[in-house]
Amino acid sequence: MDAGLDTGLDAGAEVVILGGGLAGIAAALALLDAGRRVTLVEARQFLGGRAFSFTDAATGQPVDNGQHVIVGCCDHFIRFLERLGIRERWHLQSGLRLSVFDRQGKAGLLAASRLPAPCHLLPSFLAYPHLNARDKARALFGLAQARFTNRHHPHLERITFYQWLKEKGQSERAIQNLWNLLVEPTLNDHVRDVSAAMGLMIVQDGMLQGRHSADLGYPRDGLLPSIGAPARKLLTARGARLILGSPARRLLLESDSVAGPVAGSVTAIELASGETVRGQEYVSALPFNALLSILPPEAAALPLFQDIRRLEWSPIVNIHLWYDRPVMAEEFCAFVDSPLQWVFNKSRLLESATAGGGQCLTVSLSAAADYIDQSREELARRFIAEMAEVFPAARAAQVERVIVVKQREATFRCLPGANALRPGPGTPIPNLFLAGEWTNTGWPSTMEGAVRSGYNAAQAVIQGQRQ
Ligand SMILES: Cc1cc2nc3c(=O)[nH]c(=O)nc-3n(C[C@H](O)[C@H](O)[C@H](O)COP(=O)(O)OP(=O)(O)OC[C@H]3O[C@@H](n4cnc5c(N)ncnc54)[C@H](O)[C@@H]3O)c2cc1C
Repeated sequence: MDAGLDTGLDAGAEVVILGGGLAGIAAALALLDAGRRVTLVEARQFLGGRAFSFTDAATGQPVDNGQHVIVGCCDHFIRFLERLGIRERWHLQSGLRLSVFDRQGKAGLLAASRLPAPCHLLPSFLAYPHLNARDKARALFGLAQARFTNRHHPHLERITFYQWLKEKGQSERAIQNLWNLLVEPTLNDHVRDVSAAMGLMIVQDGMLQGRHSADLGYPRDGLLPSIGAPARKLLTARGARLILGSPARRLLLESDSVAGPVAGSVTAIELASGETVRGQEYVSALPFNALLSILPPEAAALPLFQDIRRLEWSPIVNIHLWYDRPVMAEEFCAFVDSPLQWVFNKSRLLESATAGGGQCLTVSLSAAADYIDQSREELARRFIAEMAEVFPAARAAQVERVIVVKQREATFRCLPGANALRPGPGTPIPNLFLAGEWTNTGWPSTMEGAVRSGYNAAQAVIQGQRQ
């Protein structure tokens, strides 16, 4: 750890960034490109934030904290990978292809055809076995209405997507087997809970916008070698100073009291070690609760930070299962009418997967509020049994190893009203700027949103924007 003591040693650092997740990395890259000097302070020993992996000592295999997937419309994230020189480490389909099973193992396929958008998914949708003809006809009507609805209308931020779907005559079955299939993994919340505005965003930008907007992508290796490690190498090579393993404890302001709507400037960041880091401008790329915890009380009382306090988290649980034999053929698949949501075949997705006779599968559970407090043993037992319902080969297979990863604070919730609580990059504190996927990017809690937020904050620093 090389944080300078409070002796003026850090006077040359122009911009201090707090947080080395995707938002912090993106902000650092953009500021370096603009010729600024950058110091990045990160609590952990590695970069990548919530998109991280660790190596399982028993199998030698990288294990992600949670499977991360991108879609073709994540244009900033894809260009960010190119900027880092690691685009080839991520696979992206050239046309959506997603198998959808029900609990009895009946298979459907959602796949892009050669038809132009928004009709590219139509042929596979017409053959989709998990909806009857009446539900499909209504769903097509709903999709057409979704396409032509202005999602930025304030009313749509006040109601849930479920309410909107009911208004459009969607059946419970269509809501569960189509609309929630799209929404739950992308917004990490049930269609009953998210705002209509964000639900419509997923359908408009993700499904209908272009022939490739719904193509699915994933890292070919663990998340650390696919983001955090190469980002660390590049930032170091570009001259950024990285202070890792060093949580920020407090943000120090010019004056102890905040008068009126504008506060005094930030003078330094105090680290948990007691040392301080100084810059001209400061970018917080911390999760919203981490930012609130380092603000002095007088700054935390400002309306912008009071709003942030009302944001909420939604959890994700991933269950990594090592079978002694292959049980699933697909690279990944989704489920309806089953507690299973998505299963990823890590033995096929990961280039580093060992070619033994077994298979590693990851059960990914979004909107996992009902699971997060269950014991790991209980979750493993339940989902091993569910896998056996759907995959006949799993019934005779032995599960040789299980790792359950729970992420309680996985993504912020896109509840009605949440968008109004998300600030832009400027704050009433003149030299403090905000990044983080929870800031107002128009995107849900995703890597795309995080990268966008980092660029927005860098832009605001460069332009000297205030709230
Ligand atoms: C299990 C899981 C699955 C997900 N799946 C997907 C997916 O499929 N697709 C997708 O696009 N997104 C997915 N996400 C969301 C995505 O990971 C996040 O939206 C994104 O990584 C957030 O990036 P960020 O930089 O804004 O925040 P973070 O990644 O949270 O970065 C903040 C950084 O700040 C650091 N920090 C915290 N406190 C301090 C402090 N006091 N001092 C210094 N540093 C501090 C943290 O250690 C962290 O590195 C998933 C998230 C989880 C948890």
